[in-house]
Amino acid sequence: MSDTAPPSRPLLFLDVDGPLNPFAAKAHRRPAGYTTNRVLGLRVWLNPSHGPRLLDLPYDLVWATTWEHEANAEIGPVLGLPELPVVSWPDTAPPSGLYFKTPTIVEYAAGRPFAWVDDDHGRRDREYVADFHDGPALLRHVHPAKGLCAADFGALAAWAAALPEAAAR
Ligand SMILES: [Mg+2]
Repeated sequence: MSDTAPPSRPLLFLDVDGPLNPFAAKAHRRPAGYTTNRVLGLRVWLNPSHGPRLLDLPYDLVWATTWEHEANAEIGPVLGLPELPVVSWPDTAPPSGLYFKTPTIVEYAAGRPFAWVDDDHGRRDREYVADFHDGPALLRHVHPAKGLCAADFGALAAWAAALPEAAAR
């Protein structure tokens, strides 16, 4: 990250399975607003309203999902999202007890403020981020049976609005 042209907005790392695809919901209880999609042979529920709502947030969106580049090919178009940057995951195992994504997310952010919606990060990951990320961060847990809800969008908007000027601009 160049220090001569600081980015103006925080990053928002997007997990797919859980936040955007509430895979843990019972089949007969597909959450309202979702459509059923067949993606690479898998059933994926997606809510087309999520794309516009994510784009309305004051963040730069980044895919942070094991779908990796397939997210741009298969998920983004259903949601109405443009092509987004993609975090690629290393083959190496993370430190003991850590979610495999966490060190890579911190490295990608490189000190830039970020929020991260996922159904799998926990207390150890928050501690790791607090220790190794030199900037504000919000790890927002999303229930994989519910997906992103109004409360999540509200929390993301409020967090970005509360960032210090120096960090947000
Ligand atoms: Mg997930």
